[in-house]
Amino acid sequence: MLDLSHLNQNQKAAVTYGGGPVSIVAGAGTGKTTVITHRLAYLVEKGKAKPEEILALTFTDKAATEMAERVDQLLSRGYADLWISTFHSFCERILKEHGLDIGLSTDFKLVDQTAAWLLVRQNLDQFKLDYYRPIGQPTKFIHALVSHFSRCKDQAVYPEDYLAYSQKAFEDKERLKEIASVYETYQKLLLGSGLLDFGDLINYCLKLFQKRPRILEKYRQQFKYILVDEFQDTNWVQYELVKLLAAPRNNLTVSSDDDQAVYRWRGASFSNVVQFKKDFPKAKEVVLIENYRSRQNILDSAYRFIQANNPNRLEHISQIDKNLKAAKKGKGKIGHLHFKSGEQEVSGVLEKIVELLREDKDATFSDFAILVRANHEASAFIRGLERSNIPYQFMALRGLYAKPVILDIVSYFKFLDNYHESSAAFRILSLPFLNLLPEDIAQITRYSSRRSKSIFESLQELSLIPGLSLQTINGVNRILSLVEKHTTRAREKNVSEILLSFLEDSGYLEYLVKKERKEDLDLISQFHSRIKNFEETHLDSRLRAFMEELNLELESGEEGKMNFDVEQGPAVVKIMTLHSAKGLEFKYTFLVNLVDKRFPSLERKDPIEIPEKLIKDILPEGDFHLQEERRLFYVGMTRAKDGLFLTSAEDYCGVTRKRLSRFLIELGYAAVLTHLKSRGVRVNQKKFERVKEFLLPERFSFTQLAAFEKCPLQYKFAHILKIPVKGKAVFSFGKTMHQTLQEFLLVSTSGPVGLKDLLEIYQREWLDEWYENPAQKKEYFELGQKTLRKFYQNFRKEKPKLFFFRGHPALEQDFNIKIGGYTLIGKIDRIDDKGDGVEIIDYKTGSAKERLRPEDKKQLLIYQMAAEEVLGLKPQKLTYHYLDEGKSLSFLGSRADIEKEKKEIVDEIEQIKRSDFKATPGWQCDWCDFKNICEFSYKNNH
Ligand code: SF4
Repeated sequence: MLDLSHLNQNQKAAVTYGGGPVSIVAGAGTGKTTVITHRLAYLVEKGKAKPEEILALTFTDKAATEMAERVDQLLSRGYADLWISTFHSFCERILKEHGLDIGLSTDFKLVDQTAAWLLVRQNLDQFKLDYYRPIGQPTKFIHALVSHFSRCKDQAVYPEDYLAYSQKAFEDKERLKEIASVYETYQKLLLGSGLLDFGDLINYCLKLFQKRPRILEKYRQQFKYILVDEFQDTNWVQYELVKLLAAPRNNLTVSSDDDQAVYRWRGASFSNVVQFKKDFPKAKEVVLIENYRSRQNILDSAYRFIQANNPNRLEHISQIDKNLKAAKKGKGKIGHLHFKSGEQEVSGVLEKIVELLREDKDATFSDFAILVRANHEASAFIRGLERSNIPYQFMALRGLYAKPVILDIVSYFKFLDNYHESSAAFRILSLPFLNLLPEDIAQITRYSSRRSKSIFESLQELSLIPGLSLQTINGVNRILSLVEKHTTRAREKNVSEILLSFLEDSGYLEYLVKKERKEDLDLISQFHSRIKNFEETHLDSRLRAFMEELNLELESGEEGKMNFDVEQGPAVVKIMTLHSAKGLEFKYTFLVNLVDKRFPSLERKDPIEIPEKLIKDILPEGDFHLQEERRLFYVGMTRAKDGLFLTSAEDYCGVTRKRLSRFLIELGYAAVLTHLKSRGVRVNQKKFERVKEFLLPERFSFTQLAAFEKCPLQYKFAHILKIPVKGKAVFSFGKTMHQTLQEFLLVSTSGPVGLKDLLEIYQREWLDEWYENPAQKKEYFELGQKTLRKFYQNFRKEKPKLFFFRGHPALEQDFNIKIGGYTLIGKIDRIDDKGDGVEIIDYKTGSAKERLRPEDKKQLLIYQMAAEEVLGLKPQKLTYHYLDEGKSLSFLGSRADIEKEKKEIVDEIEQIKRSDFKATPGWQCDWCDFKNICEFSYKNNH
């Protein structure tokens, strides 16, 4: 039963409100996510809707994941599907299923801003550019044009609208016509290449619903309730989409805080919030003002500050009270620290952190955040933290390609691509785990420059370089043999294979694991995902093609996207931009560099502005840039729980002395100098060090349990550190077979299919990675063909009757089941309809077993539980189907089997939660993905 006793009156009112439109105006720290997630769970628990009948939309993948995890914890029963996602993922899912109905291919690929830039750059000759193609710098305006089109899409302005407008325009006609024509070419180019950008996702989805009433009706029927989080950040077209889908029931819940709108173009922070009131004048409005984060004096100060944005605030327009009330008693620390120089400001902040750590015995480094307006302002603080030996993490959303560990990898790639890239060669020689002596490296570079040779050429004649140590000679020989091996592979293999081979063969991965460099491992995993994404979208996925794209990306100014998880990892001080800090909270928050022209920052207008007449948003009056900056400052202030420190300095090594930020003046502060108490802090980390925490997965799976049972360290490598590993031919083959059969069976539900279709799908789905050589690949390929022929013979004899779950064939059926309060997730390959019950089928490649082993039964029993408890089915048998031999082994669990299995699963999850992940080496090391980087591997110790 859902417990609502901890909610306050207004929260409860929002959670339990019946049907119809509801607007939740939720100030900072008032439990907005709690309300949204409880409302979703409440609707399910009260039987008003099934989990898959509620659509919850938010803005970032992180927010969607967090919301899904919270809902998961609140629901007492498992479910087959939750529609909690970002707007983009939701639209992608709809278009993948129904895109054909508006002439879109359903295997479209997504492009982000950088990929769109690349597309235009590579096809520049197709665009009729004149005004926006300056001589000598033809690519100068690509970014501006691409982001202009993105803005247009936010307002549902299509090329034809632009063209119509430009034809009627009195001024600037030719320039506007050029933009309209370029926009049209851009759209054609995207469609012709099977690509959609993020704006297209929403717009095509809207068009689909507008043009195809049957499809709209299907989803209107499905989604009995729609919840939209961070509604103030929705753009015009997103809101149109939501309105269309919610009608006519209009069970639409939106939660918003216009004072925290920092992502709206031209500061349209209240546009949709006001529009919502006009569209639904009788909507229930709940205002949440009880704040569970900050002390009252911090809230009061923030509240007084944001009043300067009136009359462009919802509080003013709607005459509601948004003055937050602190649930926590007592006063917080709040103050302004002004210093002589930027350097002193850094020292002052660090001194304050150490002072607070001494005073507050419960505080750890994780309780501190330094918030900057722009990324580059973080550098001085990073240097200071390093000097002071204070652990920190810079949580940037961009900059992956500039991270040292990624630079190392890219240098190695560059070197493979061109041996004479001496700067890349130098970086490789300096890799710490190679243990080359610095004086030897200097000797090698001296030799190169004296003889005008590349470093690679010098390495070839190592014996001629005097005085090198044996250690260095051995190290260099090791690198050269690696380079030789990987150069040959790079000509044939995917770039991800080269990445993983380099990391493993060179010993780099082992070095990072031994040193517990979790952050670097995480960055590698992000870079690996970037490469996989490249491979999925390019026919040529080898190293050279990847390097060409990477170089173009860097040329476009792309720094590499990054994800970070603020909750994860050891106790460190966090540095991040104010935009990244939205939604987070810290015990002590520092807003730094608060001087004129830094914060508020100077306004940077869009290089190409949308004509006012085409804008559909309600725009604010007055200086919208200043208002937006003020909201950002307000977001910063309201992150602080117990302490808020605003800092500034007179001199940042510029020509003129800096004036205080106008925001400090609005808050009533003056430039009174603070003097440092000491001559710099240096922390003995040991004293403050806390246990390194690792964040365990929230949900478990059969694979996870099996890994833990084999070896807890293997579990940690795979599921906590998420270390990317080399693949295996057998896995690539298994994946290909699974995907081929799923696709074939899916196609078979909509018409007759033959062997030719099956073999064509096989060819298309063939995953060409990790085969050791062409002979092995050929062998597997032929085995697949043979297996599929056998499968087809049986298919012809007796076409399987697939079970349809909620209108879809039950193939790769996801489930999420609750066992003893824990969540287990999984996917069932296939469910067949057997008349008075179902058969659960799991495909296996490789030779068939004589009988099912206990671990096989465990997996099948989990499927049985999911089928019964989540999907509401009656399994007749649970089957392992061995594809190669066409043989099946089946069984069905008894009640006692299921109860015993549940108990074991709960015990195992509790063991994982308590575990310190010690290695348990043994026979399993032979099959372990990490055996080459694991110091405990059985092989390494026997
Ligand atoms: S190699 Fe062996 S000891 Fe190391 S993680 Fe794998 S199974 Fe565990």
